Amino acid sequence: MFHHPDFDDHEQVVFARDVTSGLRAIVAIHSTVLGPAFGGCRMWPYRDEAEALTDVLRLSRGMTYKAAICELPYGGGKSVILGDPRQEKTPALLRAMGQVVDRLGGRYIIADDIGTTLDDLRVLREVTAHTAAATLAARQPLPVTAYGVFQAIRAAVEHALGRHDLDGLRVAVQGLGAVGLPLCRYLADAGAALAVTDLDEARVARAARTFGAQLLAPDAIYGQAADVFAPCALGAVLNDRTRIVCGGANNQLAEARHAAALAARDILFVPDYIANAGGVIDFHQERTGADAPDAVLGAVARIHDITSDVLARAARAGETPLRVADRVVHERLAAARQRATAPSRPHSD
Ligand code: NAD
Repeated sequence: MFHHPDFDDHEQVVFARDVTSGLRAIVAIHSTVLGPAFGGCRMWPYRDEAEALTDVLRLSRGMTYKAAICELPYGGGKSVILGDPRQEKTPALLRAMGQVVDRLGGRYIIADDIGTTLDDLRVLREVTAHTAAATLAARQPLPVTAYGVFQAIRAAVEHALGRHDLDGLRVAVQGLGAVGLPLCRYLADAGAALAVTDLDEARVARAARTFGAQLLAPDAIYGQAADVFAPCALGAVLNDRTRIVCGGANNQLAEARHAAALAARDILFVPDYIANAGGVIDFHQERTGADAPDAVLGAVARIHDITSDVLARAARAGETPLRVADRVVHERLAAARQRATAPSRPHSD
């Protein structure tokens, strides 16, 4: 474990098994330095435990970075359930997962993710209080991730192309699911010309009809001469024909060094953990009772300024945005660690 390529000094990794319900799960708490670890629970038919472990290690680290770059008081965590949600997800399995979360005593707050839903969180809440979406407003989900990605694209276009509108801008969107589809809506409303792809042909056809988007076969997206490439599928391969890469998918780069490779080709890469941080902002709005739709979207719109700030600093320093954003996160974590370990001042009386 400690030598795993994706192990990044995670505080805790829990392997959980419940024979009765069939649960096999891993919870990774990357950091609680800034607050309780927040992150979704992904249920997916992983090939094996190794694949699940890699996923949960990388995704939990990403959550730490999302919260830290947005200056929110949360750490990073994630959980994965090994199995096919369409066949193996039962109330008993979810309750067993809830017990795993509950035993962590609030160090990890579980949310929905691919393969789990807000209804599933309701089942988890039968056994643990440590879930997201506990308020009524939070149960009417807004497309916060898509809206955040849209804001990051706006900021990147301003920075790289010197334009304050998206009119006629060519954007290629890969993946038309919970993030990609509402992103297309925001982009189309802003006047962007869309080219879209998905493995699901019906989704592509619907998007083509609804948004007047150009329809592409999955592999054809890489050859698109688009201004912006927005990866919103489950993984992504980046090419060098575009000016800006900014999307919702987690872990778009196989390795951090690929950010430099993109920069060398004059492609602006917006770190995915900034663009897709809408979920943790949404959670914070819920926790602080400011979860009216306008307040949530207003808070998510901060992603525009966070992106602008990172891009401007990167340009000034001649570094990649990823390096700059990583450094901001590391500084915030180091400062919080220092505050936590600083001796308290003795009482004067
Ligand atoms: P989703 O499952 O709803 O949609 C993904 C879509 O991508 C599906 O329609 C699928 O058919 C398509 N797809 C998969 N592989 C593809 C390929 N090679 N080419 C074209 N299309 C492909 O998932 P989602 O919730 O929209 O999430 C998309 C990405 O964004 C994921 O990487 C996810 O981790 C990340 N993300 C999602 C959220 C969220 O709030 N849903 C938050 C942060 C990050």
